[in-house]
Amino acid sequence: MSYASDARRELAAEAPGEPCCARAELAAALLFSGGISFQGVGRYSLQILSPDAFVVRHYFLLVKRLFGVSCQIRTLRTTQLKGLTRYQLVIPQEHAADVLAQCDLLDREALFGIRATPSEDALNYACCKRAFLRGAFLLVGAVSNPEKGYHLEFAAPNAPLAEIVIKSLNYFEISAKKACRKAKFVVYLKGGEQIADALALLGAKNAMMALENVRVKKDVGNRINRQINCDERNMQRQLENAEAQIEDILLIEREMGLGKLPRSLREIARVREEHPDSPLSALGEFLDPPLGKSGVNSRLRRLRSIAEKLRSGEDLDV
Ligand SMILES: [Zn+2]
Repeated sequence: MSYASDARRELAAEAPGEPCCARAELAAALLFSGGISFQGVGRYSLQILSPDAFVVRHYFLLVKRLFGVSCQIRTLRTTQLKGLTRYQLVIPQEHAADVLAQCDLLDREALFGIRATPSEDALNYACCKRAFLRGAFLLVGAVSNPEKGYHLEFAAPNAPLAEIVIKSLNYFEISAKKACRKAKFVVYLKGGEQIADALALLGAKNAMMALENVRVKKDVGNRINRQINCDERNMQRQLENAEAQIEDILLIEREMGLGKLPRSLREIARVREEHPDSPLSALGEFLDPPLGKSGVNSRLRRLRSIAEKLRSGEDLDV
C-alpha cells in the first residue's frame, strides 16, 4: 500500500464530525470529484467517483448519518478507465436537490443554479474549513512517500476551487503554491514541516508521525554530513597553514639562517619542518618542554612576521 493511499485510508476511517463539518466535507467531495450535474429544472444527479473503495464507503456512511439516505455503490471497470477499477457513490435522485441545498451549493444566480465553490457561510468556521480540506484531499489529494521527497498536492478540477484550497490552508498558516498540470489546477506544498502541519490538520496522524520519523532520520544524516564537511574544511585549512609556515621557515633559513633566531623560534621551526602534516596541538608535543597550542601558534606568528619583514626588505630586530 502506498504512503498516500495509507494517508487517505486513515482520513476515511475517521467518523464525520459535527453536521456543519460533515456538510462541508460532502460539498468538497461533490465539487472535487466533479459529480454534480444538472438534469433539468430542480433535478440534479449527484455522484462521487474514486479509485478508493474506502473513500466511497466513507461518504456512504456520511450521507446515511446526515440525511438518513442510503446511496447506491457501483463498481466501474471500463476500457475508458484503462482497466482500472473506480467506485461510484450515487445519491438517489429524489434526495439530490435537498442534499445540494443542505450543502449550500444551490444559488439562483449561478450557472444551472449550482455553485462552483462553497459559499462563504459554509466555510465560516475553522472546523468546517478543515473538513472541506479533508474532503478535497480524500478525492484529489496526494502525498509522496517522505523517504523519496516532500510533496503534497490537491489536484483541483478548476481554478476557483484551487483558490479556496489555498485560502483555507493559509487560514491555518500553511502556505501553498499553485501550478497547472494536465488540465488540473494543482495546489501543492513543499517542505517536510509544511506537509507535517498539513497532515496533522487533515487528521492523518499516523502519516504525520511516519513523515516526522523520516525527517528526524534525514536531519541526523544531514548533521553528520555537515560535520564531515566541516572537518574536511578544517583539515584543508590546517594543511594550507602548514604549507605557508614551511615557506616562511625556508625563507628565513635562506635569507638569514635559522641559527640567528632565538632558541624558542629555532625549535619550533625545526619541529614544523620535521612534521609538516601535524596540527598545532600535536606540534607542541614534540618540544621539550611540551608547549600548548596557543604557545605554538604565537611562535609560528613570530616566524611569520620575520619572514614578512624579510620579504619586504624591512629591518629585522629578532
Ligand atoms: Zn464545522
